[in-house]
Amino acid sequence: MTITAATALQDLSQTDRILSMLVYLENVLVVFDGFRALDIDVFGLYHNELRVVIGPNGAGKTTLCDVISGKTRASAGKVYLNGTDVTSASETEIARRGVGRKFQTPTVFDSLTVFENVELALPRRRRLWQNLWGRTTSDEHDQIQSILKRMRLSDEIHKPAKFLSHGQRQCLEISMLIVASPQLLLVDEPAAGLTDDETALMADLLLELRGEHAIMVIEHDMDFVRRLGSTVTVLNEGRILAEGSMDEVQANPQVVEAYLGR
Ligand code: ADP
Ligand code: MG
Repeated sequence: MTITAATALQDLSQTDRILSMLVYLENVLVVFDGFRALDIDVFGLYHNELRVVIGPNGAGKTTLCDVISGKTRASAGKVYLNGTDVTSASETEIARRGVGRKFQTPTVFDSLTVFENVELALPRRRRLWQNLWGRTTSDEHDQIQSILKRMRLSDEIHKPAKFLSHGQRQCLEISMLIVASPQLLLVDEPAAGLTDDETALMADLLLELRGEHAIMVIEHDMDFVRRLGSTVTVLNEGRILAEGSMDEVQANPQVVEAYLGR
C-alpha cells in the first residue's frame, strides 16, 4: 500500500481515537453459528463517561458487554482498552486492566455478611483468596464502610446477604465491583425487577459514580434511561442504529420503528 498524506492522516486520527478513548471497537463482528449477533463499525467510550445502551431483545447488548469484558471473543475486528489491543486478552486479563462486570443476576455469597462479601471482592484478596494471611487493613475497612454508606447499605453491614431485598443485592454487587476501583463498570439491566423507588435510587447511585468510573449501562426501562440523561447508543440486530441524547434518538424514525414505537 502506498502511504499518502491522506492515509497517514487517517491513520493518525484512528490512532488518536484509539489512544484517547477508554474503550474503542472497530469493525467488530461476533458470529454465533453463522448468525451475526454483533456487527459494529465503530464504538467508543470516553474516560469517565456514562453511556446507556438500549435496543430490543436480541439486539446484541449483552454480547457487546461480553466482547468488551473478554467473555466472548470477537470473530473479527479489534477491541482496544486504554489504547491497548485487548482483542485476544482473557476475561481475567481484561478485569485486571480495570473492567468490572455486573451481571443481570447478582452473584453474592448468601451466608456471608454484606461487609464480608465486599471484603472478598478486594482486589488483593481476590488474588490471595485462599491465603489465611490476607487480613483486611484498617484502610480497607474504612474504604468498604464508605462504599457501603454510599450504596445506602450502612444499616445492613453485618447482615447475611440472604436477608437483603433484590434492590439491596444489586447495590451490594455494585459495591463489590467498585471496591476494585475499576476504570469501567459494565452494568447489565440494573433496574430489572426493582420497585419504582429502588429504580430511582439506582439511577442516583450510577449518577454519583459517574466521574470516578466510566459506566456502560444496558437498560430497558425508558424512565430510568431518561433519568440518567446520558448519551444513548441504540443497537438493533447487532448494529448501531443511532447514538445521541435520548431526545435525539427518540426523534430518529429508524429507532422509533425498531424499538421505541413498539
Ligand atoms: P440482548 O442482550 O440485546 O437481548 P444478546 O446480546 O443477548 O441480546 O443476543 C444477541 C443475539 O445473539 C440473540 O439473537 C441471541 O440469541 C444470540 N446469542 C447470544 N449469545 C449467544 C451464544 N452464546 N450462542 C448463540 N447465540 C447467541
Ligand atoms: Mg441482554
